[in-house]
Amino acid sequence: MSVPPSIATLPARTAELGGLLERWAALNSGSGHGAGLVRMCAALRTEFAQAFPAASITDLPADAPGFNPPGVQALSIRMRPTAPGQVLLCGHYDTVFGADDPFQQCRWLDGRTLNGPGVADMKGGLVTLFAALQAFEQSPHSARLGWEVLLTPDEETGSHGTVEIFRAAARRHQFGFVFEPARPSGDIIHSRKGTGVFTATCHGRAAHAAKVPNDGRNAILALAGFLLEIAQIPAALPDVMVNVGNIRGGTAATNIVPHLAVAEIDVRITRPADREPLLARLRAAADRLSAGDGLRLELTGGFNRPPKECLPAEEAAFRHWQQAAQDVGVAPFTWVHGAGGSDGNFLTEAGLPNLDGLGPIGDQLHSDREFCRVDTIAPRAQIAALFLHRVAAGEIKLPMRNL
Ligand SMILES: [Zn+2]
Repeated sequence: MSVPPSIATLPARTAELGGLLERWAALNSGSGHGAGLVRMCAALRTEFAQAFPAASITDLPADAPGFNPPGVQALSIRMRPTAPGQVLLCGHYDTVFGADDPFQQCRWLDGRTLNGPGVADMKGGLVTLFAALQAFEQSPHSARLGWEVLLTPDEETGSHGTVEIFRAAARRHQFGFVFEPARPSGDIIHSRKGTGVFTATCHGRAAHAAKVPNDGRNAILALAGFLLEIAQIPAALPDVMVNVGNIRGGTAATNIVPHLAVAEIDVRITRPADREPLLARLRAAADRLSAGDGLRLELTGGFNRPPKECLPAEEAAFRHWQQAAQDVGVAPFTWVHGAGGSDGNFLTEAGLPNLDGLGPIGDQLHSDREFCRVDTIAPRAQIAALFLHRVAAGEIKLPMRNL
């Protein structure tokens, strides 16, 4: 099948797109770094405004006290909002690397592989969607398809300031495209686990460790017992993950029976139906501890992202995605389940079918070994652009929704 010239020639832009990725990765935009997020947002606005002068660009406040630094914003870039078809492309511009993280610099590992903060997760994906839309705009039927790009500042910390923005955007579109990185194999993502964070606060009773030890109730030991117990939950519920992420307790003095200990726990579920059995087991373990004399375990927190399940409309779209990949010469790949959450989870929850993991190939995310295969940016952009071209041409039918 024919590929419009603007899409066929994308690989000629590989060096330029790698340069753009280096520039964006050099701007620190850790989720907690307010000034850095503002700088990154401005850089994105400038680049999109230059490339798409006819688009309307809107700043959307993404305040979430206690989670996001004040003043951070999401960016909505819309083109042809009244065209007959409407699609959403999204990505986050925050990273897990804060302003004081030692990992700030990009480094080429070889001629095609860039190591740097957020190069795969997911500034490489932002470059990919940007290049895809540039090529799509020059394809012959683009006037028939409207699009919105949503760029957000808080995915890595749970999207507390943007979840409502995603829900509202989901209602405006027929289909969504999430440019999180592809797997090292090239596979994309068909479903994701739902995620939650709980805080377990154990209250005991302080006492002199030597004079009246029997008066004390050691909160650290009690909490440790609770954590060992809940670590066994996945043995009973195999599609559930429980990770005790951190723990603190006691005072500076070792001659005191500690009265307080706190742990934070990351949980993940595969299906909505896993939610209640997991909660029941957490609560039962907490209740058993609290039944002990002088001890109490308080469990706070909850789920922030629902599981992303594969929707029927996505099965059909994925076959077209694979066809587009074949037509631009990308090696065959499939789609797989991902344990990490993404903002695609919110789109699915809001009823918007979406494909996820559409960015370039990368790996070692959230570590200073993170890398992006820069030579996969243009081919992944070609797939997206060709898919959109075929939607605009009427060759691919997206689900009809009441927009
Ligand atoms: Zn990400």
